[in-house]
Amino acid sequence: MFTTAVDKLLSQFFALSAEERSCILEVLVDSQPINNSDGVESFLSKRLDVSRSGRPACPHCSSLKVVKNGRHCGTQRFICRDCSKSFGWSSGSFFNHCKKEISQWFKYVQCFMDRLPLRECARRCGISLDTSFKWRHRLLDGLQKIHNSVKLTGVVEADEVYFSISYKGSRKFSAQPAGREPKKRGMRSTKRGLSDEKVCVPTAVNLEGKSTGVVCNLGKPTTANLKTALGCKILPGSTLVTDSLGGYPLLAESCKAKHVQIPSKKHKKGIFNIQLINYYHSALKAMTNIRFRGVATKYLNNYIVYNNFVTFAKESFMEKIKILKNEIFTIGVEERSFSVNISKRDPLPLLKDQYLL
Ligand SMILES: [Zn+2]
Repeated sequence: MFTTAVDKLLSQFFALSAEERSCILEVLVDSQPINNSDGVESFLSKRLDVSRSGRPACPHCSSLKVVKNGRHCGTQRFICRDCSKSFGWSSGSFFNHCKKEISQWFKYVQCFMDRLPLRECARRCGISLDTSFKWRHRLLDGLQKIHNSVKLTGVVEADEVYFSISYKGSRKFSAQPAGREPKKRGMRSTKRGLSDEKVCVPTAVNLEGKSTGVVCNLGKPTTANLKTALGCKILPGSTLVTDSLGGYPLLAESCKAKHVQIPSKKHKKGIFNIQLINYYHSALKAMTNIRFRGVATKYLNNYIVYNNFVTFAKESFMEKIKILKNEIFTIGVEERSFSVNISKRDPLPLLKDQYLL
């Protein structure tokens, strides 16, 4: 039985193209269980930019004048000759202050890609629920860094989507405005329509699978809101397709993009429609409201990036795993920027309106 299954898998493997096979082999090599305590160290030493001496650059001042400085708890320490600060392989890296095995992180990446609930991720990776939550946001914070540089070209569809304000998980009642009663999931807003009880997320997507979206303002967006959220994301020469909301013509003008505005109660204009952005919104809502049963507004930007990367981006599953391992795992972080301050984030992360100043 076992042999038949292996034979079947091998025949499928050899039916793939050379490029696909090398991609699978790379993932398999990375997924091998690493049992020694130096897992993170050996992973980073192979991937980080190291000077010719095989030592990492100083995470405090980027100097390459670095010498070995003994071992601590089995890991190599270094000292910088310029700033005299001591550090290890994981200092200032994605794995800063992380004491778990790299093999647990590899498992976690699989769970993350499968959009598993936090408890299931924790069970499969042998970590606590609290760590599972912190790891999810550590990965999403890393993705957020990459996402900040996304620019959209070609045919770009833009529209805004609204989420009810949520203080989920906020035990301190001070996070909520005075006079606001706690709400249970699924309860209706007290005000009808687009009110200041809803956060507006202007979003834009293009046909190449690139997408962007950010929590911007409360209620209906002004032109200034749209420019702040999307202005720097749409490149000149693009074709911006939107619905009939008033702010979009000025947004298109400021981006030097051609504007196609679909009249209200119509679904298309010529060959243009906004079906892709509508699909994007329904996938985002399905992820946040159904799969994760509502997310706190303070983490909404991270879940938008989660949806952009896992659901919407056109790269294959394997390519996405490679991005996480090769780009996110090797990303540099500012001291204590991840996880430590995760619960102290702004409960309403609205954008500062640079165009209103
Ligand atoms: Zn230094």
